[in-house]
Amino acid sequence: MRDENIKEIVIVGGGTAGWMAAAALSILLKNPKIHIRLIESEQIGTVGVGEATIPHIRYFNQLLGLNEKDFLKKTNATFKIGIEFVNWGQIGESYFHSFSPYGVNMEGVHFHHFWLRHAMKEGAPPPDEYNLHCLASKRSLFAHPKPELRGSPLSTIEYAFQFDAGLYAKYMRGVAESRGVTRIEGKVVDVNKRAEDGFIDSVSLESGETVSGDLFIDCSGFRGLLIEGALETGYDDWSHYLPCNRAVAQGCELDGPPIPYTRATAHKAGWQWRIPLQNRLGNGHVYCSDHISDDEAYAQLKSGLDGAPMGDPKFLRFRTGIRKKAWNKNVIALGLSAGFLEPLESTSIHLIQTAIARLMTNFPDKRFNQSDIDFYNRKTLQEFEQVRDFLILHYCATQRTDSPFWNYVRTMDLPATLQERIDIYMESGRLYRENNELFGENGWFAVFEGEDLRPKRCHPVIDSLSDEMLDRRMNDVRVAMHKCLEAYEDHQTYLHKLCSTA
Ligand code: FAD
Repeated sequence: MRDENIKEIVIVGGGTAGWMAAAALSILLKNPKIHIRLIESEQIGTVGVGEATIPHIRYFNQLLGLNEKDFLKKTNATFKIGIEFVNWGQIGESYFHSFSPYGVNMEGVHFHHFWLRHAMKEGAPPPDEYNLHCLASKRSLFAHPKPELRGSPLSTIEYAFQFDAGLYAKYMRGVAESRGVTRIEGKVVDVNKRAEDGFIDSVSLESGETVSGDLFIDCSGFRGLLIEGALETGYDDWSHYLPCNRAVAQGCELDGPPIPYTRATAHKAGWQWRIPLQNRLGNGHVYCSDHISDDEAYAQLKSGLDGAPMGDPKFLRFRTGIRKKAWNKNVIALGLSAGFLEPLESTSIHLIQTAIARLMTNFPDKRFNQSDIDFYNRKTLQEFEQVRDFLILHYCATQRTDSPFWNYVRTMDLPATLQERIDIYMESGRLYRENNELFGENGWFAVFEGEDLRPKRCHPVIDSLSDEMLDRRMNDVRVAMHKCLEAYEDHQTYLHKLCSTA
């Protein structure tokens, strides 16, 4: 019988996506007969941004067996407990999207309904008073979750990291190479297809070397060398929903102890990120070129830096959207070659991680079963659309009227899936998590409430509570949250302590 098992995997590209894939596959595919090679070109380089993450990255790091202290030290990482959004709802206002939940759910009803009813009363405390990480962010505090304290809010808090993207890719490379992945330095100049079915047979390098494979993973970045360059798969452009299409990034010196969260400040035609690492601040301005020039965008970024600029600015162009098929024939696109959603909620690295997991679930043999491929592509699209809708909410919920950019995003047509969610929330306060999507009730509530979209009603079950009973419960939750905050420590001191013992 013919052996149909995949033996040769070729990863094209050594950015975050390429090395994450190489590291994970080298661990998950335990078969010594499978040979993984990664081709990258120093001449071309990587995007080199991507410094903020979401909590799921910890599970990826655990899979690779990384020691957290070592990881923090080697990637200049800080902890991240959420994102502060400044000037999004209105200029001068801010809100916090936290990685910890609001209050506690009661009677099977999500806590935000209790808060909504309570908020009808004058002088009721804001939702941040019931959220541990929101409280911690105000004093730059951090704590690891305490799963042993079952039932305590401390057991369910989550966290992520802010790190140097270049150092992270290097770290992944170390893991991959130590597990037998072969790195090939060289520029791919040709992609060779099989005459009979158009599958990729090999890639040719500038040096004249040819690298052939059974399965190709396209991690070549925005250019999508195999998935688009060779297979012409096509791209669904979503820039009518998310019109930002450029970014300029520049590091600067720290202005004080690094805070445990990312800040996203809205400007007149986009927004600016501020990501504190141990040794510097990462900054960037994401903007829409229809409404602001590159020079003006950079001037705005520079004037908003909190420390002296470091290095040269890096200008990037992108188009929000998704490859029509992330998996086409024997090519799977990962990372930027699969699609791009702007970094407002730091989701790109996460989407690489889930794509790797999906690839493992549907790992092919040389027959490349089309039903598996279709399933993979359907799930990828679903995941991208869910994240896309959440990102759009940040824009369309705005009350800002101060620039053509904000007037456009405030009034643009929305995807039906998002419009339905907004309609349901605005009528009854109901939020839901569909198909295990990435952002749940806490995230959606943070943005709705943070941008002043308040529903007409809350859950009817809460109407059965008397005002006194509700007051008492809300007060108990608030007191408990403040009590839990005593378990937190100063972020910088805590980080320093961990890194010094790495
Ligand atoms: P790249 O980094 O572009 O790597 C491409 C690789 O392909 C390189 O090694 C290159 O040398 C190689 N290559 C290309 N062509 C050839 C060739 N012909 N021959 C050989 N090799 C070739 N993500 C987050 O999770 N959090 C964030 O905060 C975040 N911020 C971002 C901000 C911006 C402005 C942008 C644009 C992206 C951001 N991202 C973020 C996304 C993140 O940067 C990417 O998802 C991640 O870096 C993966 O990139 P990549 O590996 O797919 O592509």
